Amino acid sequence: VKLYVPCDSAALAVGADAVAAALIDGCRQRGWPVQVVRNGSRGLFWIEPLVEVETAAGRVAYGPVTSADVPSLLDAGLLQGAPHVLCHGLTAQIPFLARQHRLTFARMGVTDPLSLADYEAHEGWAGLRRAASMAGAAIVQEVMDSGLRGRGGAAFPTGIKWKTVMAATAAAMTGPAAAQKYVVCNADEGDSGTFSDRMTMEGDPYMLIEGMAIAGLAVGATRGYVYIRAEYPHAVATMNEAIRRAGAAGWLGDDAAGSGRAFHLEVRKAAGAYVCGEETAMLESIEGKRGVVRAKPPVPALQGLFGQPTVINNVISLASVPLILARGAAFYRECGVGHSRGTLPFQLAGNIKQGGLIEVAFGVSLRELMFDFGGGSRSGRPIKAAQVGGPLGAYLPESQWDLPLDYEAYASVGAVLGHGGIVVHDDQTDMAKMARYAMAFCALESCGKCTPCRIGSTRGVEVLDRVAQGGQRGQQIELLRDLCETMTQGSLCAMGSMTPHPVLSALNHFPADFGLSTAAPD
Ligand code: SF4
Repeated sequence: VKLYVPCDSAALAVGADAVAAALIDGCRQRGWPVQVVRNGSRGLFWIEPLVEVETAAGRVAYGPVTSADVPSLLDAGLLQGAPHVLCHGLTAQIPFLARQHRLTFARMGVTDPLSLADYEAHEGWAGLRRAASMAGAAIVQEVMDSGLRGRGGAAFPTGIKWKTVMAATAAAMTGPAAAQKYVVCNADEGDSGTFSDRMTMEGDPYMLIEGMAIAGLAVGATRGYVYIRAEYPHAVATMNEAIRRAGAAGWLGDDAAGSGRAFHLEVRKAAGAYVCGEETAMLESIEGKRGVVRAKPPVPALQGLFGQPTVINNVISLASVPLILARGAAFYRECGVGHSRGTLPFQLAGNIKQGGLIEVAFGVSLRELMFDFGGGSRSGRPIKAAQVGGPLGAYLPESQWDLPLDYEAYASVGAVLGHGGIVVHDDQTDMAKMARYAMAFCALESCGKCTPCRIGSTRGVEVLDRVAQGGQRGQQIELLRDLCETMTQGSLCAMGSMTPHPVLSALNHFPADFGLSTAAPD
């Protein structure tokens, strides 16, 4: 009998290792032969640790399981998939999962993350195999045709970025070493409430490796780096081991995937600063310098890592590529809306009953995600707002919960999808405090290179403190708006220019929390 217990950090944090040990021990004591597979997480975090047992009808799910539950579960017939108060029936039929459209996350929680055999048996390497026989330009065209846009937040068309790097020649460079190009994966997943990059690296690492190798073959890059945030030790360990195994199996190296072209890959542990998720600060960090934002131009596609042409993509962007190559661009662009093609793994967190990963096509609404998938607030109180797109994203009030989640629709209301993180707040949240938090976060994480962000964020905290104290409130609000305008227009990168998103959305939609009786003018 095969049992599955996730090795993902989210499951480990709630005792998955102890559950796995208790299952092995309990079965040994009873003389029952079992194989416990440590899979990735399905992303149903409210029922982690999720134990699955393989039956003739499919995998049956139990959760959340503690090690203390294990003896009674075994005695109740866990190995046969018998009913139990912790049983959710067939995993594939759990509504949270069954309603999703999993493309990138199709293998997540199904396979043993480090098993090359498992990966190959579930469509793994099919994209790289095809890419290995294609010219770089044809690979780039396929990615362009798919409509894939950067999933890290900027939503820049991935294929166009690749085309720029592919076409970059020594003429665009200053030195003789211009022939070297790089692929850098930005895995410095620092947005609040986000975890899709971490889940990918811990639960399906070969998918990212495959996507990076395809990118390398496409643009002519022979070296790649995965820049993983320091707070992800399990992801770092899994990626290092996966790279070692993929190299030993011939998928990486001097003749990557039998392509006759080289692609070498290594992990770089990040420096623990939010701003190092900004692509140029990340390059500085990989080069061994302090993570300070570079002015653009030149763009990294022409002068990136060590001054050479560099593809920089987020984990999910790169992880989406193998399927596009395996099944073709038309398959991928079939789903989605408008210019937002394919799927996005949304990450539902905060005050929510059923938090976790929800991969669906663009066009779903926030209301559907929070209620149909999330089941409403965890506190049972009315939901007041959701912050979408990380700490620099806007707070959306109920009047905006039916907007389709796509890049353009959100931009039209001054919001962003970002990396797909959604943090839910109930009616007890003070939005003025959240606005202050945004300014304080910016002050803490600013790299200090430009004045609007470095000084503006500190002044922003002070102004918001004066607003909270009352007295000359109108004047202070006016000052706050002026400051936000300066930060938006004058900051060098998104850290300073987007911090006004949470501040102004909180102010505009929840004026009462700022001591104002009516909605303040935009
Ligand atoms: Fe640095 Fe902030 Fe300026 Fe970005 S906006 S360059 S983080 S000081």
